[in-house]
Amino acid sequence: MIPHTAAPLQTSSWQEELSRAIRDPHELFKLLELDSATLPAALAADKDFALKVPLPYLARIRKGDINDPLLAQVLPTGAELLTTPGYSSDPLEENRANPASGLIHKYKGRVLLIVSPACAIHCRYCFRRHFPYGDNQPGRKQWQAAFDYIAADSTISEVILSGGDPLAANDNYLQWLTAQIASIAHIKRLRVHTRFPVMIPSRIDENCIQWLTGTCLKTIVVLHVNHPNELDVGVREAVDRLKIAGAYVLNQAVLLKGINDDANTLIALSEKLFATGILPYYLHVLDPVLGAAHFDCDKHKIIDLGIQLRANLPGYLVPKVVSEQPGAHSKVPL
Ligand code: SF4
Repeated sequence: MIPHTAAPLQTSSWQEELSRAIRDPHELFKLLELDSATLPAALAADKDFALKVPLPYLARIRKGDINDPLLAQVLPTGAELLTTPGYSSDPLEENRANPASGLIHKYKGRVLLIVSPACAIHCRYCFRRHFPYGDNQPGRKQWQAAFDYIAADSTISEVILSGGDPLAANDNYLQWLTAQIASIAHIKRLRVHTRFPVMIPSRIDENCIQWLTGTCLKTIVVLHVNHPNELDVGVREAVDRLKIAGAYVLNQAVLLKGINDDANTLIALSEKLFATGILPYYLHVLDPVLGAAHFDCDKHKIIDLGIQLRANLPGYLVPKVVSEQPGAHSKVPL
């Protein structure tokens, strides 16, 4: 159980913590006392998708353990360089749902804005690891096409800030963007998809809270935690601050072979999420992105895991097991 204490705001700046993230595989191996046998493969895979590990996350990785489930999410490996049939650079065909720069419209009622190409961490299985961020980086003026698109469709009631990670943007920018969105009468909810509160909890600082409390939109923050070891007191304090600011806090996880594909780990994840103040929301089947095939799990095993979660947890702690399929009208339950 994570102790629930009144949490003072941290004084170190999140921008400083972000700038100190580990980007050099040599340094990662040295800090974590890893056997250098796999370093050449890490250096080769790093050229395709660069290593990035923030220090608060690094501190939760066991030293000397190449199989640590948190390390496996961020360590470049030779398996990423293999080409596997059925895995592509745009597995969800988002390029077909991109009617304005920075805007993706896949499902009825909500649109997603690519607010920032940057992240606090680079997850090796990320389905947007090949995303053309250069074509989707509108400045303040270029966002107008996206705002016009949203304003013209009164069936849209929710805007999702995504990326990359939207919390890589500064709070002035987020305030401006949110004000533009909130000025469209039919928008009721703002959803933020982010790993920052888990990777760099100091990101939820006073300015961030002012941004969240300053909007009339209902806010939902969807975190991304795959393993119970990712959650510590710092994350708990960041979640507390989000909730005090009025946000609903949910979690989506990705099912990853060798990291969380067993019932005990997933049950422990749901229990610890709840103890941290977060409700489990989705458990995603891996999107078939080039370079991540080694993380994929067998379909029968996934179905069995869903059965075991339902058998061992109260309903409110069972995440929906879903996959995304290009062109589908919603996520597809398994
Ligand atoms: S977009 Fe999300 S999953 Fe992808 S690298 Fe960034 S934080 Fe990780």
